[in-house]
Amino acid sequence: MKFETRAIHVGEEPNIDHTGDVTIPIHLASTYARKYVDIPTKGHEYSRSDNPTRLALERRLAVLEDAKYGLAFSSGLAAETNLLLALLKSGDHIVAFEDLYGGTRRLFDKIFETRFDISLTYIDATNLDLVENSLQDNTKLIWLETPTNPLLRICDIRKISQLAHQKGIIVVVDNTFLSPYFQKPLNLGADIVLHSTTKYINGHSDAVGGCVMLNNDKKFERLQFTQNSVGAIMSPFDSYLVLRGLKTLGIRMRAHQKNGLIIAEYLKNRKEVQQVIYLGMREHPQYVLASEQSSGYGGMLSFELNADLELSKRFVENLKIFATAESLGGVESLIELPAIMTHASISPEERNKIGLSDSLIRMSVGIEHPDDLIEDLDQAFEKLNN
Ligand SMILES: *Cc1c(COP(=O)(O)O)cnc(C)c1O
Repeated sequence: MKFETRAIHVGEEPNIDHTGDVTIPIHLASTYARKYVDIPTKGHEYSRSDNPTRLALERRLAVLEDAKYGLAFSSGLAAETNLLLALLKSGDHIVAFEDLYGGTRRLFDKIFETRFDISLTYIDATNLDLVENSLQDNTKLIWLETPTNPLLRICDIRKISQLAHQKGIIVVVDNTFLSPYFQKPLNLGADIVLHSTTKYINGHSDAVGGCVMLNNDKKFERLQFTQNSVGAIMSPFDSYLVLRGLKTLGIRMRAHQKNGLIIAEYLKNRKEVQQVIYLGMREHPQYVLASEQSSGYGGMLSFELNADLELSKRFVENLKIFATAESLGGVESLIELPAIMTHASISPEERNKIGLSDSLIRMSVGIEHPDDLIEDLDQAFEKLNN
């Protein structure tokens, strides 16, 4: 079955012998009665361990990434925490792409490094030599986010995975920005894929969640054991919302990308704009690699005005259809200033080092009609000039 068909049917096959519902019920029960003491009659024991609605979602998430296993968590950061707790121990070392989601860096630095003796090296993973030279005897994981947030840089998943596997190092890819519709890191050699389902996977800005997908049986067992032991599971209702959101992932991603390119071209031609970063524009320095390792470029873009921070703030606040908000990947267009909002937990020195300027503007282009988005941008530019 093709992606769009799997996204609708896997996990929600109607049970004709029962009621024949074409969508799975939201199983709210916290526990399941059994006929005999020794065994759970239908396999279900307790909802933290195996809720049927969540299991349906986990099956669907797995097949969409071409993976054997999927696990759903209460947030993207819960998924990350679970993964680190399952696979690392104190004294281990992580190599990570320096330009990561701010919350991921906070989790790594303030919790795992400070409190649990996990050491970290942040590098520019677009440079393979830097990746190779940063590996130590105790390196357990290479953590990649590609494309990165908000600078939309990408790294070569295939080459880094080859390098890592020579030394038995696990490669994790945060695939939130492109979704499995446009990029499947496991097929490029990565070991584990992770998402904040809060973003494109759910797509409607109404449920916080996360997931992990992988093929390795032993690692899956450890992750599942940790999921049940730690308990940061996705709720049945949120699982239902994500199952519902996923049905339109393909059609949404195509629409995000179409609008993304239209808005990027529009911004490029405005005299007030200094630079536009969009993966799908030939001007992007890594356009060729992007075209090789993913089948599309998504709906995220960043840009800078020929203006200072105050004017950039005013521009963003003057927009009417674009909501000024953190997060991304929903059907509605959002805009924000990373240095003040999503990436405020990263120190100014670090932001400077990775090239994230204070006035950079990040946009999650939604699937509204592009004419309305452009009209909104037009009026905000006009106000800036007055
Ligand atoms: C939002 C986000 C996360 C964190 O996910 P939450 O669901 O907010 O906990 C991790 N990685 C990326 C790339 C994100 O955009």
